[in-house]
Amino acid sequence: SSAVHQIQSGQVIVDLCSVAKELVENSVDAGATAVEVRFKNQGLDSIEVQDNGSGIAPNNYETIALKHYTSKLSSYDDLSELQTFGFRGEALSSLCALSRFSVVTCTQQEAPRATRLEFETSGKLKSTSVVSGQRGTTVIIEDLFRNLPVRRRELERNIKREWGKVINLLNQYACVQTGVKFTVSQQPTKGKRMILFSTKGNPTTRENIINVFGVKTMSALISMDLKLALTPTTGPLNKGKARAEGSATEVRVLGHVSRPTHGEGRQTPDRQMLYVNGRPCGLPQFAKVFNEVYRSYNASQSPFIFADIQLDTHLYDVNVSPDKRTILLHDQGQMLDNLRESLIELFETQDV
Ligand code: ADP
Ligand code: MG
Repeated sequence: SSAVHQIQSGQVIVDLCSVAKELVENSVDAGATAVEVRFKNQGLDSIEVQDNGSGIAPNNYETIALKHYTSKLSSYDDLSELQTFGFRGEALSSLCALSRFSVVTCTQQEAPRATRLEFETSGKLKSTSVVSGQRGTTVIIEDLFRNLPVRRRELERNIKREWGKVINLLNQYACVQTGVKFTVSQQPTKGKRMILFSTKGNPTTRENIINVFGVKTMSALISMDLKLALTPTTGPLNKGKARAEGSATEVRVLGHVSRPTHGEGRQTPDRQMLYVNGRPCGLPQFAKVFNEVYRSYNASQSPFIFADIQLDTHLYDVNVSPDKRTILLHDQGQMLDNLRESLIELFETQDV
C-alpha cells in the first residue's frame, strides 16, 4: 500500500544527508566526472544534483523510480564483488514517495535532446517532455518530507545542525573522489547563489583536500600508506572464496593525518573522515585508534584524519544498514591492533 511504501521510504531517506548521499553516489556510479550539488534554502526548498554521467536510457524511464529497481546488480552473488555504491534500488523510489521528484536526463546518443521525467509518489512515470541538455542526469528534490509533517518540522527545527552534517558529508565525497569535479552551492530563498566549495577533478586526494580545506591544512598533514598484514582466518564472510591457505591478506590505510607536532598556529580543522574502499563510513573504532595514538604525542588537540581503508571486498559486508554507513569488517580486532602499531611507527619516523 502507499502508506507502507511511505513508511519504508522514511527509513531509507531519513534526513538531508541521506538525500545528498544517495544522489551523489548515483552520479558517481554513473561514471560522472563532474557533480554539482545545488541547495535552495539549505535544502528545505530544493536539492538538485546534476552530473555528466551516463544518463538514463529511455527504456529505463518507467522503472528507475520503482521500488527495488536497480541496474547495478545482476545476481545476488555480485554483492561481495560490489564496485558501485548503490545496489538496493531504494533511493529514487523513496525520494519519489517523500518529495516532489523529477529527473532530467540525456544519454550520449540523444544529446542535445534531454528528457524531463515526472513521477507519481508511487514511482510510476507520470509524464515525459523534451528539453535541451547535455549528457548526464539532474535529479531535483523539492519539498522534502512534504507528506511526513512531523519529520518536516523536525528538519526545519534542526536545520542548522542538519546543514552542518550535509556539508561535512559532501566534503568527504569531494575529498575522496579523485578525477571528479565537485561543486556545492547554496541559494537563500531570497538572494544570490553562492559556491560553498569546489574541487577541480584532481588526480590526487591531496589536491582535493587543498581545494576543500586549504593549503594551510594540507601542510599540517603527513601522508600515510600503512600496510596491515592480516594472518589468514576463515570466517563467514569468506564464502568459499578464501585466500589460499597460509597467505596473509593485505589491508592498506591510505591518506593524510595531522603531524603530531603541528602545534600552535597550525590548527587543522577538527575533521575525521574515514572510508572503506572510498565509501565514507562511520568507523568509530578506527577513529579511536587514530585519536589515542595522536594524543600520546599531542594531548591538546584532535587530529585531522583522512583515511581510506582499502581491502578486499570479501573482508567486509556493507549490506548491514540501508545507508551502508555501517560496515562489518572481518578480523577488525586484528586490523585495529595492526593500525595502532603502524601509526606509532609512522609518527616515530617523522622528525618529531
Ligand atoms: P541503486 O543506486 O541502488 O541502483 P537508485 O534508486 O539509487 O538505486 O537508482 C535506481 C536506478 O536509477 C539506478 O540503478 C540507475 O540505473 C538509475 N540512476 C539513478 N541515478 C542515476 C544517475 N545520476 N545517472 C544515471 N542513472 C541513474
Ligand atoms: Mg543509488
